[in-house]
Amino acid sequence: MNLPEDFLSRMKERLGDEFPAFLQSYENPPQRALRVNPLKIDADEFVKRAPYPLGERVKWAESGFYIAEQKAGSDVYHYAGLYYLQEPSAMCVGELTVNAKKERVLDLCAAPGGKTTLVAAQMQGEGILIANEIDFGRAKILSQNIERLGVKNCAVTSAEPKQIAERFSEYFDLVLVDAPCSGEGMFKKEPEAVPHWSVQNVKMCAARQRDILEQAASTVCGGGELMYSTCTFAEEEDERQIRSFLERHPEFQLVEEHKLYPHTAKGEGHYCARLRKTDGERREPKRFPVTRNAQANRAFKEFAEDFFVAMPQGEITARSDGRMYLLPNGLPALGVRTLRTGVELGEWDGRIFKPAHALAMSMKREECKRFVSLSREESVNYLRGEPLERKLENGWCVVGVEEYPLGLGKCVNGVIKNHFPKGLRKR
Ligand code: SAM
Repeated sequence: MNLPEDFLSRMKERLGDEFPAFLQSYENPPQRALRVNPLKIDADEFVKRAPYPLGERVKWAESGFYIAEQKAGSDVYHYAGLYYLQEPSAMCVGELTVNAKKERVLDLCAAPGGKTTLVAAQMQGEGILIANEIDFGRAKILSQNIERLGVKNCAVTSAEPKQIAERFSEYFDLVLVDAPCSGEGMFKKEPEAVPHWSVQNVKMCAARQRDILEQAASTVCGGGELMYSTCTFAEEEDERQIRSFLERHPEFQLVEEHKLYPHTAKGEGHYCARLRKTDGERREPKRFPVTRNAQANRAFKEFAEDFFVAMPQGEITARSDGRMYLLPNGLPALGVRTLRTGVELGEWDGRIFKPAHALAMSMKREECKRFVSLSREESVNYLRGEPLERKLENGWCVVGVEEYPLGLGKCVNGVIKNHFPKGLRKR
């Protein structure tokens, strides 16, 4: 691999005797891994069902496994949200968040959702998770991943850190800043990034991270924690960034920090720091303004009585475009561009209620009145959009691979019409 001269000399200076081992690590292929999603299946059960060989467990991630499989992203279990493909070193943030208070969590730079879904797994549907991504296109992908993994307690926003800071002063118990960085630790996985590297770019990234951290700091409540991470080795973006933050913010203290190098850990490069805010308040902002629409709620209730074993509990809001959401308990007013507020239940068009794909993905088999269980082979046809023939009473049903939901179907006279979203279909 052709690495920039300046990069190499900086690394040599930093690593000293370890530099040859570091350089040697570029001869090995990048590590690949998956993280089992405990919102859907526990890791031991997944091991029994794994459709391709799983390697050893990732040391610093309870449900992380190394894999060699190249097509893990197109397996039906991936569609069912049983796992998330994640660079193994990036999973180390989970070690830092596992014991943090997580009633109110913000992931400020969240797309495509690796860290959001990791923390969501630890939250187990309790508390409020706000996943924000500045880039709207990337926020859509984030939202899809949250949906696929069946996360129920998450709102997805697309705003600048400054806008988030203005809305949520001293509100969150835990704030993740997985900052945009120069990506030195990912050169092996993303070689196209190598020509864009320069010392100038490192400095530009450091300045941007400083701004993001300033905004993030004000959103952490007294006693709360701030997790900062990057996938770069540059000290300006890592240790020095954090030292300079601590000098400006005596109300924070460093609890721990870790740096993973590809020659010392089985993964790519990553840095993470855990900070605690020792001084400050925990504020109560306004609650999310629930919009009740009596007709839409009636239509939903009629659908729900036929669809769920037990009615879902919680506050339902109806947006002006007809989309209805089941809100995370205690969700605050967001006041910024928002993609989702909890589980999308479906859409009311003024006449009928049509359930959403996200609803099916958030459910467990035992919660559905009609669940069509397919084999892995049959599931591929469903994911391609083909109809199914089944003896089932007419109405909406959840279709799944074995007991894991994949999407919706609607049974009419022995044929189940396929409602798997066109944009997500398997080719
Ligand atoms: N946390 C994500 C995960 O685990 O999947 C990865 C986040 S990625 C390292 C950094 C993100 O920050 C990108 O999605 C990028 O669009 C976003 N970003 C870029 N510029 C930003 C800015 N000025 N403020 C906030 N976020 C920014």
